[in-house]
Amino acid sequence: MVLADLGKRINNAVTYAISNEQTDYETTVQSMLKEIVTALLENDVNIKLVSRLRANIKSTLLSNADDNAKLTNAQTKKLIQKTVFDELCNLVDCEVTSPFQPKKRQSNVIMFVGLQGSGKTTSCTKLAVYYSKRGFKVGLVCADTFRAGAFDQLKQNAIKAKIPFYGSYTEPNPVKVAKEGVEKFKKEKFEIIIVDTSGRHQQEDSLFQEMVEISQTVKPKQTIMVLDASIGQAAEHQSKAFKESADFGSIILTKMDGHARGGGAISAVASTNTPIIFIGTGEHIHDFEKFSPKSFVSKLLG
Ligand code: GDP
Repeated sequence: MVLADLGKRINNAVTYAISNEQTDYETTVQSMLKEIVTALLENDVNIKLVSRLRANIKSTLLSNADDNAKLTNAQTKKLIQKTVFDELCNLVDCEVTSPFQPKKRQSNVIMFVGLQGSGKTTSCTKLAVYYSKRGFKVGLVCADTFRAGAFDQLKQNAIKAKIPFYGSYTEPNPVKVAKEGVEKFKKEKFEIIIVDTSGRHQQEDSLFQEMVEISQTVKPKQTIMVLDASIGQAAEHQSKAFKESADFGSIILTKMDGHARGGGAISAVASTNTPIIFIGTGEHIHDFEKFSPKSFVSKLLG
């Protein structure tokens, strides 16, 4: 995923501006800022964030304008690129004071929420494998009774990954299935119990009501929202709506292997002030990486 040539455009803008002998430092900064703003907006980053970013970059670069004006062209270029890089990192890096750490020999319930097709079921299995490899006893619960075939999908993934699972072909009430699954795994001393919930194509009141009920019943230690990296501008609105009802504590960003524009994801993180913890980089179980703001921004910049 690349923010459509943002890195290249910044590079070109800076090269062009500093190659003009007549141009002073401030003009270089201004023309480069214009290019960055255009590129970010074209890539679905929310306009408010873009203006915040612009103001921050500008104040950093111009705060020492007299000294900076003495820099060589190569140094100016480096300084500008580093400032842009740092500011983009700040946008996606919500430092949580105490990130969720599951405890061994305790039942840690983790609930997944997100729209249908976002990659929820796939990510549940990926996270289950991640913890299983680290020595936790992990179980998967399918509380999606809305979509026909949801349980079969989770079951197939779980069998392939050798993760115990729970679900029902007959019980239509997702809250009941979630409760039974979590109780069963708790009794069997499972340390991580991952609950996959239903999604819809759109955010609907009934979906949010269902999530609230499941959450009140299984009392998750961590709620994770799964977000498709390619949904663009809709990401911000969607994340805010989920945050209000499900109050998720972290995000898994999926389909980072595609050619999607990544600006929506940046907006989602910044507007909900919630950290991305993992990224999905493909359809297979092991296509799963811990999120790092620096490598995310490096990839964005191409
Ligand atoms: P759910 O409806 O939210 O449970 O979504 P699924 O887990 O069924 O995923 C929907 C589709 O996206 C499936 O075809 C998955 O294989 C695919 N998918 C999920 N995560 C990723 C990812 O990180 N990269 C790619 N390329 N495909 C993904």
